[in-house]
Amino acid sequence: MSDIIPKIKNAADIVELISEHVPLKRSGANYLGICPFHKDSKPSMYVSPSKQIFKCFSCDTGGDVLKFWSEYHKKSFTESIQDLARRYGIPLEYSAESKAQSERTSLAIKMHELAADYYTEKLLGSQEAEHCRKYLSERGITTETIHKFKLGYSPADKQDWAKLTTYIKDKLKVTDEQCYDAGLTSRSDKDPLKPVYYDRFRGRLMIAIRDERGHTIAFGARALVNPETGTEPSPKYLNSADSPIYTKGDNLYGLDLARDTIRKQDAAIVVEGYFDAISLHQAGITNVVANQGTALTQRQARLLCKHTDSKRIYLCFDTDRAGEEATERAIETIMQASSGAEIRIIRVSGGKDPDDLIRNEGADAFQQLITAAPLLFDYQINRIIGEARDSSPQTKSRCITKLAKYLSYLKNKIEQSEYIRIIAAKLDIADERALREQLGIEMDANPYKQQVQAAAPKRKHMKQLPTSLAASERELINLCIVNRSLLEEFLSAGHTLVSAEAQSIIEALTDISFENPELNDTDTKFRELQTKLSERQELSKILSDIGMSLDDEARKPSAELRFSDAVRRLNREKLRLELDLVNQEINGLSNYLASDKDQVWNELDHKKRKLKQELERCR
Ligand SMILES: [Zn+2]
Repeated sequence: MSDIIPKIKNAADIVELISEHVPLKRSGANYLGICPFHKDSKPSMYVSPSKQIFKCFSCDTGGDVLKFWSEYHKKSFTESIQDLARRYGIPLEYSAESKAQSERTSLAIKMHELAADYYTEKLLGSQEAEHCRKYLSERGITTETIHKFKLGYSPADKQDWAKLTTYIKDKLKVTDEQCYDAGLTSRSDKDPLKPVYYDRFRGRLMIAIRDERGHTIAFGARALVNPETGTEPSPKYLNSADSPIYTKGDNLYGLDLARDTIRKQDAAIVVEGYFDAISLHQAGITNVVANQGTALTQRQARLLCKHTDSKRIYLCFDTDRAGEEATERAIETIMQASSGAEIRIIRVSGGKDPDDLIRNEGADAFQQLITAAPLLFDYQINRIIGEARDSSPQTKSRCITKLAKYLSYLKNKIEQSEYIRIIAAKLDIADERALREQLGIEMDANPYKQQVQAAAPKRKHMKQLPTSLAASERELINLCIVNRSLLEEFLSAGHTLVSAEAQSIIEALTDISFENPELNDTDTKFRELQTKLSERQELSKILSDIGMSLDDEARKPSAELRFSDAVRRLNREKLRLELDLVNQEINGLSNYLASDKDQVWNELDHKKRKLKQELERCR
């Protein structure tokens, strides 16, 4: 199928295709439109006719025609290829290999669907499944739900260990090896010449696991108390092994039934167990999926974010220690998959799970928990401070370390600042300045912080700094536009520019250079930069100044010297500005009424000395 992709790309015009879905208007060399992948108020999606790509500068979605089609229509990559090939009249010639692969996949799905029907039939009709039916009715599961979720029972005949295997072989005319390949049977290799195949699941409550589109691709199987012996076999849950159609951690249980509501309500609820999801759906709360008791994976997090515009995700895990840890890990996974996610925490109190709550107190009780679910950060403040054993300085400091991590997830500086105020009040910390300083240090140590920042560029120098660019900044921008390896050096050394304007330009240049690694022509690159910053009126003058002074000398090896000289001058500039700020603070100390004035003065004076030394060093 791989040779089809270039054909599609040749036939399709990305501007034409996207403008059928989103109105586009011309903007320089590109087109601009309202991005359909996030709540966009002013256009932030660029479509480039020459490069045949689109990119949203707000939510970072981007790619080629296929990517747009699959994101917009929520289709898989393969489905998108088929759609577009059909649209542009490109015959879908499968290679022999991919044809065999797709036959293998569709056969495996067929076997699983047949098995699911078989298990349901056994559950509802067989004498043997009596204890399984009793178990379900005690859990309040209705027959309608059994059909909807394809619950079932796998028979356990002591004489015949291959009841399902025989049934499938007979119905679909397949071999033992094919059943084994699909993941439905186990194999005993005691005699390598004559392997014995038998059903993987026997005597268990069966739960059909389906993909996003509703195809049965695996099973979860719960152990039941044996009515004869009174014992419950172990493990409690047994799942399908990985197969051509199923990879553990790749899907979310219940997503096929939940995805419409998730989209409509623009929110998804993640629970731990199959039965938590099933009960909630049965009670009419249908935007619920389960992560099947394992740690939430990156792929699952992306699946969730894909179906909600505002990425509002409720985590509802157990309240025990393991549940807290799972919540913790899930938060990090989601923040890594999508920094803009709005995570809320649902806690069912009293050591119960959602299934217990719904059964005992009804759907309303859970609905109330959803409505009252705190934002991740409010929840963590209360949890971490609530767990503190005493109010000693050491305990307070430990709380701050823990809270700093969550604080760094917040993109909004005002929000961050407000929360610091709340933390100071809750922990009864009088010196808010010290708290801010400490949090700043701790936040820098959080590995996820950088991603969050990348999504929301900081403008912290905006206020106190001059609007004109320093000569060193102008020189560095100039060198970085012309010479890509100098830009890479600039970024990898972690340099930043001082003025907000210069920093915006270097950020835009970084985007352009990494989207188009091939782009080498200075004029084209500069035009891209202008296009990208066309809405920033305040930059137009600075940009045209820079445009005039671009020189190809910057490509020569001697540019390295110019570069390191400019970096040195820039660092001096920064130190001088910092020194100014410290001096201002020292001058402002006379108005300072606090009792720790001397201590603050000492700290500032110490800082001042250090800055002066550093300045001396880089002369
Ligand atoms: Zn967007």
